[in-house]
Formats: sequence, structure tokens, C-alpha cells
Amino acid sequence: MTLPQGDVLDQLAKVMPMTADRIDGKTFAADVRGRVATQVARLREVHGITPGLAVVLVGEDPASQVYVKNKGIQTVEAGMQSFEHKLDTSVSEAELLSLIADLNADKAVHGILVQLPLPKHIDEAGVLNAIDPAKDVDGFHISNVGLLATGQKAMVPCTPLGCLMMLRDRHGDLSGMNAVVIGRSNIVGKPMAQLLLRDSCTVTVAHSRTKNIEEVVRRADIVVAAVGRAQMVNAAWIKPGATVIDVGINRIEAPEKGEGKTRLVGDVDYASVAGVAGAITPVPGGVGPMTIACLLANTLTACCRANGLPEPEGLTA
Ligand code: NDP
Repeated sequence: MTLPQGDVLDQLAKVMPMTADRIDGKTFAADVRGRVATQVARLREVHGITPGLAVVLVGEDPASQVYVKNKGIQTVEAGMQSFEHKLDTSVSEAELLSLIADLNADKAVHGILVQLPLPKHIDEAGVLNAIDPAKDVDGFHISNVGLLATGQKAMVPCTPLGCLMMLRDRHGDLSGMNAVVIGRSNIVGKPMAQLLLRDSCTVTVAHSRTKNIEEVVRRADIVVAAVGRAQMVNAAWIKPGATVIDVGINRIEAPEKGEGKTRLVGDVDYASVAGVAGAITPVPGGVGPMTIACLLANTLTACCRANGLPEPEGLTA
């Protein structure tokens, strides 16, 4: 059977408005954390090994403190060891590098995460590249970037890994699908594009200089929006039936909740896009919860690799 395409799909969407499936990131992330916990318990029972994650926080940034606290709680809940290192904003680069060297050498630590942003007097790239690539559970080390780009076994950045897991769950095989990633940051856009390419999608990366961006995005079976602009992507950008993954986290005013109140929204205008897309992730409750779940998955993967054990099934790229 030949499926309707292009204009025909547009006309169908007008007479039969769609309501996209909501991809529930909270439930999905809970499932990933559960699978990690099961495999961690088995590692301990069979091999006497407990994966360990070290998180380094420099300074008092309130958002970073919340992230680090949540990471610590979820690490322990998954049965892993959590090592938190809180350093004063005035810490020197040499002191931070010395801590990283200690963590690199520590056999109980399988994953190291340095919470970003770092204070201005510290060279962020220098610190990230000082982490042992095998323990680089954020996947930001230049070696892991290169390994991913050349299709080799890498540590993969958590947010794109979470997006990939949700897309594979929705579609199974992504081979041959047209994917448009909006955004080209090193943290989300570029690794996302690499992962989709590795799964044999035809990938386009759009950014702030892309011409006719709506038209470009409308060709996509898969749209990943990682821009940081509140509700920029609306229904007119979306091919009927497409899967839309919204990475953006933006705080906007919410007068309906009372004076001075705010709420979180994504880069996608959920209400309008849900009428056209086949599936969509909400904000909050979509990609966000997957990021920490994938951090735990990466720590487990790093631990298995360090001990010459098979990689955890369904938890890697
Ligand atoms: P960056 O600011 O590093 O990158 C944004 C990208 O969007 C850039 O490549 C930029 O293009 C592009 N862009 C900006 N404006 C436009 C535009 N008008 N049209 C098209 N492209 C545009 O952001 P991040 O990648 O770090 O994060 C993106 C969003 O994802 C943010 O909202 C962030 O908070 C969120 N995020 C969420 C995470 C989660 O766990 N859910 C984790 C990480 C990020 P150019 O390169 O040309 O400037």
C-alpha cells in the first residue's frame, strides 16, 4: 500500500485534526532508572562491584545545587555510590584539576561529572578534557566527541542519548527517516545529529543562520528542537504525523497563575504542534527527566567497561 505523502497529508490533517501521542518522559525515565537499578543489583551480587558516580560542583548557583542534589538522590536510589565534591567559587583551576586527577585514579569512581557552568576564571574545556574519557559520563571529552563522530564506542552525552532512546522506543528502526535537529550546540545539537546519523537517518542540522527554516523543518519525520527560544516551533513548521522531541527549557511569565508567576515551556508550541504531530514530548516531563536517567545509565556502562563486562542492554547508544 502506498501511504499518502506531502500535500495529501496536509489536506488530510485539515479535515481530520490529529492529536499527537504524548511521549511521557517521566514514566520512560522511571523505567530506565529501574532497569539500571536491576543491573546494578546484579553487578553487586554476581561480581561484588558497585558503580560509583562523582559529581563536582563549584560555587553556589541555585539551579546547579538543585541538579546536583537530584543527581545524588537518584544515584543512591539506583544502588550506586554517590560522591559529591562541593568547592568554593574561589577554587583555583590547579586545585580543581588536582581533584579530577584524584577521581581519575580512584577505582571506586566509574563516572565523573563536573557541573557546568564553571566560574569565569576556570578554563571549562581544559577541565572537561582532564577527565579520564572512560569516566566521562557527560560525554563532553574531546576523545568521546571524536569516537562518536567516527562511529566508535563512546560515552554519549546524556540529553541526546535520552532523546534517542525515546525515538527508538517510538519507531524501532530509525533507518531512512528524515530528521531535522534545530540547534548545533556541543551539548545537544551536534551529538544528537551524530546519533541520528549513526542510526541511519538522513540528518539536517538547522541553526540561527538557516534560511527558510520552517520549510526545512517541515520535511522532517523527526524533529529535535534544542534552541532555547520559548515556543518557537509551531504547527506550521511540522509535517503531519512527525515525531517532535522538545529539548528546550524556557521560563516565561504566567499571569494566569498570578502576578509575577512564571512557568516552564519548551522550544515547541505544544498546544498547536500536538494538533499536527504524531507524537510529542511535553515540557516539563519530557526530555528533562531522561537526562539524569541517562547519566545513571552511562555510569553503569562505564563501570561495566572498566571491569571488562558486557555493556548493559538497551541503555547505550
Ligand atoms: P545553545 O544556546 O548552546 O544553542 C542553541 C542553538 O540554537 C544554537 O545552535 C543556535 O544557533 C540555535 N538557535 C538560536 N536561535 C535560533 C533561531 N532563531 N532559529 C534557529 N536556531 C536558533 O543551547 P543548548 O543546546 O545548550 O540548549 C538548548 C535548549 O535546551 C535550552 O533551552 C536548554 O535549556 C535546553 N537543555 C535542556 C536539557 C534537558 O535536560 N532537557 C539539557 C540541555 C539543554 P547558532 O549556533 O547559529 O547560534
